[in-house]
Amino acid sequence: MVFVTASPPVPVAVFDTKPYDREFFLAAPTSAQLDWQFREFRLSSETVEAVGDVRAACVFVNDQIDRACLEKLRLADVRHLALRCAGFNNVDLPAARELGITVTRVPAYSPHAVAEHAVALLLTLNRHIHRAHSRVRDLNFSLKGLVGFDLHGKTVGIVGTGKIGRLAAEIFRGFGTTVLAYDPCPGAEWAEGNQVGYVSLEELVSRSDVISLHLPLTLETMHLFDHTQFERIKPGAYLVNTSRGKLIDTTAMIENLKSGRLGGVALDVYEEEEGVFFEDLSDTMLDDDELSRLLTFPNVLITAHQAFLTNEALAEIARVTATNICRLATGQSALEGTRLN
Ligand code: NAD
Repeated sequence: MVFVTASPPVPVAVFDTKPYDREFFLAAPTSAQLDWQFREFRLSSETVEAVGDVRAACVFVNDQIDRACLEKLRLADVRHLALRCAGFNNVDLPAARELGITVTRVPAYSPHAVAEHAVALLLTLNRHIHRAHSRVRDLNFSLKGLVGFDLHGKTVGIVGTGKIGRLAAEIFRGFGTTVLAYDPCPGAEWAEGNQVGYVSLEELVSRSDVISLHLPLTLETMHLFDHTQFERIKPGAYLVNTSRGKLIDTTAMIENLKSGRLGGVALDVYEEEEGVFFEDLSDTMLDDDELSRLLTFPNVLITAHQAFLTNEALAEIARVTATNICRLATGQSALEGTRLN
């Protein structure tokens, strides 16, 4: 008689978990091979002691995985850090490599989700849909202050033409806009096929009625939109950021909103979002004067980092993350294109 012994499930600590994360992780195709240990707090050098006896740690955009945190993870024998997002600016990759911790991410779960959210934000802000909705629910059917502009015929500047930027550009082209793009690694063939014109960042900023950011946060791109950039911006232009908050110098942005140089700003990400976005703080006082100020502008629209939040994206994030944890725990390589170090 042959006894087949099933391997025990691989223990994995999932940090900063929300109910929708649990739902989609538990439904992932390889979920039965994993012992999910969901933690609601974020991973950082201060919380890492609570990692427990696990093989992998799964983190999101606002966990802070610096060298000190990684050293403690290594001491706890964690060999795999699985990011359930695309951006990895919150992880010290050289330190992880040195310590022998493999870092994986989900490079593309649904670029459509983010591109569509960028366009939704712009349309909502420009046509005052959010304000109209609240008014109508209050039986206020006045149209005062709700004048918007046609997107048709306007110029939209896409900064960063990777997976998300290209889709956003294509959607904007569908509105009959002229689309300009800037990317240090331009996609000439794609641009030609979609009637998108690559220009310098300076030209894009000075010619665009709407600027949408789709580039990663790096040391070079931090505060790419600062005082100098805002001085170049076409007066009255709209700025949309669904990428990373620190791409914009918030203080400079507020000054340019106050002066009227910026016509409107739609944000899904914010420079100091950590500890604020994803949380219900409705019973507390907001301890961030710049965010409080931004929330008073009628021409600012903010969502709390929800551009990725679609069924399709969450299912894909869970599938790739769970598969990679199983594969690395059994000595196989990570799925193609997901390993960062
Ligand atoms: P991607 O890697 O496919 O594309 C990024 C593009 O930016 C690349 O073409 C790259 O060459 C370009 N780039 C790099 N430096 C640049 C610079 N200085 N100026 C202009 N372009 C530059 O990434 P993606 O999947 O398209 O994602 C874009 C960003 O969206 C991510 O970095 C992430 O920060 C953000 N994102 C946000 C959410 C959300 O929920 N809000 C979800 C996923 C991704």
